[in-house]
Amino acid sequence: MKNSGNKAIIVYGAPGSGKGTQAKFLADKFNLYHFDTGDYLRKIIYDPLLQKNKIIQRERKLNESGILQTPEFVLKVVSQRTKEIIKLNQGIVYSGSPRTLFEAFGNNKNKGLMEILVKGYGKKNVFIFNLDIPEKEAIKRNSKRSICSVCKAPILGIAKDKLSSCAFCGGKIIRRVDDNPEIMKTRLKEYSQRTKPIFAKLKKGNYKFYKINGEPMPYKIHQTILKKLG
Ligand SMILES: [Zn+2]
Repeated sequence: MKNSGNKAIIVYGAPGSGKGTQAKFLADKFNLYHFDTGDYLRKIIYDPLLQKNKIIQRERKLNESGILQTPEFVLKVVSQRTKEIIKLNQGIVYSGSPRTLFEAFGNNKNKGLMEILVKGYGKKNVFIFNLDIPEKEAIKRNSKRSICSVCKAPILGIAKDKLSSCAFCGGKIIRRVDDNPEIMKTRLKEYSQRTKPIFAKLKKGNYKFYKINGEPMPYKIHQTILKKLG
């Protein structure tokens, strides 16, 4: 069964590109389920009830070092949830999936996420956006990622200099504690070595793939994305 007209959107971008923000805008605009893979996986691997599980222990170690989670583990979790959303007849927007070639295209034993999306939504409703920022800019943004101390809303690096308090609740803005520079370097390297190779294959497979400049303010980028969605 195809979800006629419902969209499946994938937003790519290095850590600090603002992909989560863009995905959230799109989720609000089109009433899509926002699948933030990082958040979703963290909820599972830090679940107190699962801490004795060997796979969870392994995934937790990877997460804390900045290395991508094991692709087989991620594909299983993400495709399960995706199928549930398709059954509910809802559109979906991802920030952070699929992150590896295996997660995107699977192998002879496992269906990749792209095949599941094409079957569930129809290829013409699948859109991929790559928020492109220079590596230098990603490093700069990640070195000063901040959050609100009260509501935990992320404050973008580019907006931070202009804000003295949280725009949502007025709370004090603090530095995010988990943005260790070494871990960040590993995450950026993982992105360029393991996620970027997906792009060429998507283009070759005639997916609607758009490279978007990730440097302007988020609302501008949102407008650019809306134009591409038609
Ligand atoms: Zn706040």
